[in-house]
Amino acid sequence: MQILVVDHPLVAHKLTALRDQDTDSPTFRRLAEELVTLLAYEATREVRTESVRITTPVAAAEGVRLAAPKPLVVPILRAGLGMLEGMVRLLPTAEVGFLGMIRDEATLLASTYAERLPDDLSGRQCYLLDPMLATGGTLAAAIRFLVDRGADHITAICLLAAPEGCARLEQELAELDIPVTIVTAAMDEKLNDRGYIVPGLGDAGDRLYGVVG
Ligand code: URA
Repeated sequence: MQILVVDHPLVAHKLTALRDQDTDSPTFRRLAEELVTLLAYEATREVRTESVRITTPVAAAEGVRLAAPKPLVVPILRAGLGMLEGMVRLLPTAEVGFLGMIRDEATLLASTYAERLPDDLSGRQCYLLDPMLATGGTLAAAIRFLVDRGADHITAICLLAAPEGCARLEQELAELDIPVTIVTAAMDEKLNDRGYIVPGLGDAGDRLYGVVG
């Protein structure tokens, strides 16, 4: 597993505003989208392309275009939805699937409650969107889900990550024989006893969409 912490002043600037408890939901949503677009630029560095010959108004030229099958973007519901627009802005031809995962706040275990994904992901490059890599349970379960369907190249984009979650992912995914990359804006200090990232930004879903239920 490869972890890429994107070191860029614009990323740091937007992340700082996201963390601020005084940032309201509309601003938080806008910043999250902008931040994802910046992270997506790094995350798609290995997106598969094929050669194509085109003609400019001046001359014939060799170029590239995204190869088939199209990349698949998979936001993990609910908070990953807040990252979708920022991702497809950069990758408008990608297909989008959905994975609903819920974390039991007592056991911190993740389970799948909904999915809308192709049955066969063979040969697909998949981009998972999950704002908070905290305990790593949700992301590990999501990655296994995609691998079981045949995905052979997975990149997870997370706004923030915690060292404990990365260590758990590393351990749980060691047996998988496919490349997994985590792209994040920052590696925070630790998790607290409720599984929240410290200093973090609080509950990403609540900050995006408000506290419901
Ligand atoms: N999920 C969140 O939304 N925030 C955290 O800090 C950890 C998990």
